Amino acid sequence: MITIGELTLVLLAGSFLTAIFVVTVSFYSIKRGHFYFPRLVKSGLVMSEGMVKGICNFFSLDDKELTAFFIRLHNTMNSKAFSKIESSKRAVFLPQCLRNSQCPANLTPEGLQCRRCGRCEIGQNIDRLENLGYNVWIAPGSTLIKRMVIKYKPEAVIGIGCLVEVKEGLDLLDKINIVGMGVLTMKDGCVETALNWNDLFEVALLGLEDK
Ligand code: SF4
Repeated sequence: MITIGELTLVLLAGSFLTAIFVVTVSFYSIKRGHFYFPRLVKSGLVMSEGMVKGICNFFSLDDKELTAFFIRLHNTMNSKAFSKIESSKRAVFLPQCLRNSQCPANLTPEGLQCRRCGRCEIGQNIDRLENLGYNVWIAPGSTLIKRMVIKYKPEAVIGIGCLVEVKEGLDLLDKINIVGMGVLTMKDGCVETALNWNDLFEVALLGLEDK
């Protein structure tokens, strides 16, 4: 019993020290605009995410800033692998909240089918992405994304959404060995959110510039 107690204490202490390391290095990296120990920091977060959030809350640190940092870190670490994957094996999932509130798109088993009505920027940007070779879906929710990933087996996915959605999506893609890249919307919400399309194309064009 004593040994189990001691082991538990050691594990807790290790987890706490890891979390302190992750928080300290992350905020220092954010301040300096440079990723320090990216692999260690990313592994540390995976190991002790709950405790990292607890420490941020305790010190009133902005855990949203930390999450955005981890998405940037994740993209940076995946960009080389992503660049090597052909665009035909990449998928883009656009959130349905980017649509105009009067959107006439039909809901189908493969997501919402844009009718290029011009009320929002989705139609023209789907065309641009498809011209690059991408497979693009407008997803009404995460269930469709999981279904399309199982059905079409993309090797890389660009997920677009708010902080929580993108973070959860990237974690899931990591677990199933798909190269994930995240792009954040500029505005959270359920209706008429906004995306800086240049942010998306900055990622989408990785590895395609020369072609
Ligand atoms: S362009 Fe497409 S997604 Fe946008 S409102 Fe029209 S049909 Fe809907």
